[in-house]
Amino acid sequence: MPTISDPVVPSGAPRPGAERIWCGKCGTNEHVILDSIEPLEPPSAELVDIAYTCVECDTFYAHASTFRDVAEILNQRGTVSGVLQFGGEYIHCGEPMKIAGTGFHSVYAPMSTEDPAVDLLDVYLATKVLRCRCGFRMELPS
Ligand SMILES: [Zn+2]
Ligand SMILES: [Zn+2]
Repeated sequence: MPTISDPVVPSGAPRPGAERIWCGKCGTNEHVILDSIEPLEPPSAELVDIAYTCVECDTFYAHASTFRDVAEILNQRGTVSGVLQFGGEYIHCGEPMKIAGTGFHSVYAPMSTEDPAVDLLDVYLATKVLRCRCGFRMELPS
């Protein structure tokens, strides 16, 4: 009986190229500094393309890695969990979040005023809203 080969990769299998962030020479990721984080083409919710250097032995690495691994490296430096902050960009679901708008936390924000105290207050409370395609939003001081 003929066998039909099935080229479909089982779902959940890691994509080829996804590797752990690790310096093979030093046997640790302790000295790793991320150089870049790029979305894959097409963007993936789990994987990003990264480049990094181990500053201990000066070895450069570049490959796809899981979001979780990248977060682990960045979280050592106090990043909010679930969001990668890198180079002024915030990455969620494997791609940079887009600015969805700006907002004010003040109960009432006058359009224009000559009162410098009110202006200062508004600047302090102004925020920008970043939105991910999954609907995740976060507010940052602008
Ligand atoms: Zn190293
Ligand atoms: Zn997201």
